[in-house]
Amino acid sequence: MITIKNYINGQLIDPISKNYIDNYNPANGEVYSLIPDSDGNDIELAYQAAKTAFSSWSKTSLDERSDILLKISELIYLNLDKLALAESIDNGKPLKLAKRVDIPRASQNFKFFATAIMNFASESHEMPGVALNYTLRRPIGVVGCISPWNLPLYLFTWKIAPALAAGNCVVAKPSEITPMTAFLLSELCIEAGLPPGVLNIVHGLGGKVGNEIVKHKGIKAISFTGGTSTGEIIAKTAGPMFKKLSLELGGKNPNIIFADCDYDKMLKTTLLSSFANQGQICLCGSRIFIEREIYDKFKSDFVSKVSKMIIGNPLNDNTQIGAIVSKSHKEKILSYIQLAKEEGGTIIYGGNEVKLEGELSEGFYVEPTIIEGLKHDCRTNQEEIFGPVVTITPFDTIDEVLMYANSTEYGLASTVWTTNLNKANYVASELQSGIVWVNCWLVRDLRTPFGGMKSSGIGREGGFEALKFFTEAKNICISY
Ligand code: NAD
Repeated sequence: MITIKNYINGQLIDPISKNYIDNYNPANGEVYSLIPDSDGNDIELAYQAAKTAFSSWSKTSLDERSDILLKISELIYLNLDKLALAESIDNGKPLKLAKRVDIPRASQNFKFFATAIMNFASESHEMPGVALNYTLRRPIGVVGCISPWNLPLYLFTWKIAPALAAGNCVVAKPSEITPMTAFLLSELCIEAGLPPGVLNIVHGLGGKVGNEIVKHKGIKAISFTGGTSTGEIIAKTAGPMFKKLSLELGGKNPNIIFADCDYDKMLKTTLLSSFANQGQICLCGSRIFIEREIYDKFKSDFVSKVSKMIIGNPLNDNTQIGAIVSKSHKEKILSYIQLAKEEGGTIIYGGNEVKLEGELSEGFYVEPTIIEGLKHDCRTNQEEIFGPVVTITPFDTIDEVLMYANSTEYGLASTVWTTNLNKANYVASELQSGIVWVNCWLVRDLRTPFGGMKSSGIGREGGFEALKFFTEAKNICISY
């Protein structure tokens, strides 16, 4: 049994209360580690450490800061196998996926912001003959970073790296459902020589210790990724305190397929955009709209491909669909499949829980599921399921599919498949979402703005957007 520790003031320590929560391996349903059940006292300790560290960290040269972040990046890369295994066991995702995507990206996040800070520049605005304005950007102070379970180390580092690069000190909380790689990261930060207090990782429950971060008077900005309803709770607390807020929330993303697309590429990619990480990626396209003339062909080809997907032990090399992250999330997904049936949908593939043999018989597995025959405005097509469940719907015109696509409260990401550039440009410009992929999915350039519209969040991460969020801008106006 591994006992996870908090990382506060450069030390790995127990929670003050000495209370722990069980951490499950979703592949077999067993408790395999203990997570600190931290509270406000631990946050106060972390805050004081961060506040003390800020006076020197905020004054380190860009070179120094960049070097330490590069060292962390390198250590993540050197520990790729260990971290990927830990991520797969904690989350249920295929080990292959953690090795190829999650851990390399966590390393890249540190590398990217270590170099971005060296290239970050502020604006100047001249009023000829009158005055010169320039913008000074300073770190905010102590900031809070709270992340979800679906891409644990990937999203945790996506927040921490820019916050540290910009000169802030951080109190961070990973999801209590997948805390392991954040714990391993704390060990790597010590090895990299990150000064004590610069980064503090406090584990525990969202409504308890997460809320303590959000309501702490000294923590001046909150960068949060998670569900829309949690974002609402956080905004209610942080808003009246006038904290800077970045909220990356849920999605219900459309995948729009026109008859003139590159069919083979579309089919291969749609398999991933539907079911990668068991559909538990905020960017997955869970509503698939297909132009009517290729609807039947798509349906039969898609079902045929999905039926060959291998569900199994996340640690096996050939597994494509691993475990759902938790028992309660598995139950939520199954309840939405039931709802889809009640709403008149037809399950054309999957729809059931999977019971694996032997040691994994108590694990949490759900078949990749395809549903048709639902109206665009039913709950199944409007609410985020966040599992291996997609609906397919035919359409006849561009206006009709835009209306379907834009009909939800969400606006995170969309995918469009067509070889007609004019159509692609028009549809992309009309879609209400923060990201539109045309003829691809999940292609990420870390310099681009990342985030959602409507109930998918406020603010943007990525590139200089993140460095702007983690700094306070001051205009200096000098008279000529
Ligand atoms: P969640 O909202 O339940 O939890 C996210 C984090 O917030 C966890 O660390 C949790 O402990 C913490 N938390 C919970 N309640 C809190 C509170 N009252 N105060 C402070 N912190 C609190 O989300 P989840 O189930 O972990 O993740 C799934 C959700 O995340 C989905 O809705 C998904 O779409 C979304 N997501 C969005 C993005 C994006 O970039 N927009 C990326 C990944 C996941």
